[in-house]
Amino acid sequence: MRREWELGGAIMSEKLWSRHGLLMMAGAMLLSLLVSGMSRGQGTDFSKVQIKVTKVSGNIYMLEGEGGNIAASVGEDGIVLVDDQFAPLAEKIQAALKNLGITDKPVRFVINTHYHGDHTGGNAPFANAGSTVIAQDNVRKRLESGGTGGNGSSMKMDYKAAPKAALPVITFEHDVTVHLNGEDIRALHFPAGHTDGDAVIFFPKNNVVHMGDDFVRYGFPFIDVASGGSVQGMIDAMEKACAMLPADVKVIPGHGALSNLDDVREFVKMLKETSAAVQKTLDEHKTLEQMKQEKILEPWKKWSGEFIDSDKFIETLYNSLTGSKGQFIKHN
Ligand SMILES: [Zn+2]
Repeated sequence: MRREWELGGAIMSEKLWSRHGLLMMAGAMLLSLLVSGMSRGQGTDFSKVQIKVTKVSGNIYMLEGEGGNIAASVGEDGIVLVDDQFAPLAEKIQAALKNLGITDKPVRFVINTHYHGDHTGGNAPFANAGSTVIAQDNVRKRLESGGTGGNGSSMKMDYKAAPKAALPVITFEHDVTVHLNGEDIRALHFPAGHTDGDAVIFFPKNNVVHMGDDFVRYGFPFIDVASGGSVQGMIDAMEKACAMLPADVKVIPGHGALSNLDDVREFVKMLKETSAAVQKTLDEHKTLEQMKQEKILEPWKKWSGEFIDSDKFIETLYNSLTGSKGQFIKHN
């Protein structure tokens, strides 16, 4: 069976999407993609995914499997997770935490950094096992309604409404603090960055921060313009977060290896420079097609990745800077 997804006028083979599309899909969309993807030897076989646990600092650990990075506060009061990857990995994540031999107490809270399925896919199994899921108001709204994400042009991803068990039961508008394991774990909302529901999570006692997908290491970032994200918001969020943090803070990115503030600053510098390049071309009244043909992001080509290449990032910046969100916007 060959299936193709129509992406804003361009037809893109599912093969290209079956792996990277996983990064941001939720629910039935993910499932159908997985099933068809696996039947063609593509996609992720979750039974083969191993959870790698890295001690970051004190009682904070970083867990990597498939999907977004997880931060875990593991201590005498139990466990607090930041993000939970995909539902089929929940048991392995539980087992990896138990294997640390620090506590037999359960995962008491899961804090979502944003709504994408590779960060919230485990919400239902963790909630069913007794965890309380916390997220920014817009995360719950998007999970509850389903909708369409994307960069406003060639990237367009439909996602179905999540089941009740997957919905955050505590939501916040601006910030919330969980007082466990001797630490004031604070989730702080930054508007309109990667999405409209992003939170950065601070572990001040351990000097660790989880940036969600406002900071990633896979090259040019995905900015979900169709879900209220913007490059300006992403820059603003990262500059504000950097200003709040000590120089030697350990930074857990949404995706990729453990980082530091210099890595975040280099990322922000690239966002500013590429935005300026697109803005300059916009001021010259050039079209999106002309920007692609003229390869205006060539000086930053080292950031062009398999997931977001230069053309997709030109589209993202164009839509972000012109306020165009494509025709498929459901929210905002
Ligand atoms: Zn994301």
